[in-house]
Amino acid sequence: MNLVHAGKRPLIRCQECDELFVVPDAPDKTTVKCARCGAVLYKRNTRSIANAFIFNLTALILLLLANSFPFLSMSIEGSVQTSKLISGALAVYRQGMWEVGLLVLLVMIVVPLAKILTNLYVLAPLHFGRRAPFAEQAARLVELISPWSMAEVFLLGVLVTCVKLADLGTIKVGVALFCFVAMIVAMAAGDAANEPREVWERLERSRPQPLPDPRERKRLLSCHVCHLVCRVDPHTEDESAFCPRCGATLHQRKPDSLNRTWALVIAAAILYIPANVYPVMTVVSFGKPFVNTILGGVQELISSGMWPLAVLVFFASITVPMLKLVGLIFLLISIHRRSRWRPADRTRLYRIIDAVGRWSMVDIFVLAITAALVQMGSIATIVPGVGAMAFASVVVLTIFAAMSFDPRLIWDAAGANRD
Ligand SMILES: [Zn+2]
Ligand SMILES: [Zn+2]
Repeated sequence: MNLVHAGKRPLIRCQECDELFVVPDAPDKTTVKCARCGAVLYKRNTRSIANAFIFNLTALILLLLANSFPFLSMSIEGSVQTSKLISGALAVYRQGMWEVGLLVLLVMIVVPLAKILTNLYVLAPLHFGRRAPFAEQAARLVELISPWSMAEVFLLGVLVTCVKLADLGTIKVGVALFCFVAMIVAMAAGDAANEPREVWERLERSRPQPLPDPRERKRLLSCHVCHLVCRVDPHTEDESAFCPRCGATLHQRKPDSLNRTWALVIAAAILYIPANVYPVMTVVSFGKPFVNTILGGVQELISSGMWPLAVLVFFASITVPMLKLVGLIFLLISIHRRSRWRPADRTRLYRIIDAVGRWSMVDIFVLAITAALVQMGSIATIVPGVGAMAFASVVVLTIFAAMSFDPRLIWDAAGANRD
């Protein structure tokens, strides 16, 4: 909007391959993609702020309801254990594994709640034609925390737990679970409706900058957060350049991307071994211990005839971490070797790695929900194992690794950005 200057269109830089485009005058309800690598550049939707505001408000109400009612209850031999949404995190915490409990609490309640509240803080005033103080900081916060909101993965965890515990006792679904499912749908709808570009353009307070000239390509940096294309003085670059719109530090590429990604991938690969060797949890039922490893959990689902769920869990807990590690190592090596082989496909591989990583959390959620439901003294109890800690670390480290990898380096190494 404000960006249009002197009859010219603003510029946009692809965040995944660094190609520079003049923003096309797209009709309403269209998605504009990068012609070179296929990444989504932006979605044009004039109702995006209104829709995102309404869906986020709905999600907030549903999340509050989901936290107020019983979530699941389980009865074994006449003794009943009722759990709330938060109980899983607390149960793991009480069992002495506070790091895993804190992680579960953060990714399933704290971050989704913070994301919804921050979104509302930015969107509600914009919807009514106003602007909240510190709105830029709030909008930056949303970008920062979004990858850690994993309510939908938690739901898969609930499904897996219910199937696994079906042999042990009877499980009843509470009102909170329905609210939680509805909240996930509302959040997903809010995310789909939200178009950050629209928000940033509406937030832009300062007079529009004179539009950069596309011929100065080399000096045009794209802000990582709000994607504004800024002209940077060559001497100030890297250290002291800040985005005039959102205030984020400007970088040509993510700082020290290759070394950071290598370090995180190697750490995750080492922890992948104890994560699969040591038990994630031990179920003690009538004095008999049943040790559960990650692979053992899948075998258990197969033996109880739950094939589709077994395939899903195998994919989430074994394939996804492996794919992330092998995929990132492949991408890193291809950059070091300055490979020119199919950069668009390699960028697509990165996009997949980045998108599926969160689903590996499902095993940690299964542990938390089981620990909340099965605390019945001599009848049945759950003890979290060392494997859980190692596995949670692998998931977190690989998510950080995917975040620190800069896909534009694939194109740089292939010589595509030389101008
Ligand atoms: Zn691109
Ligand atoms: Zn910015």
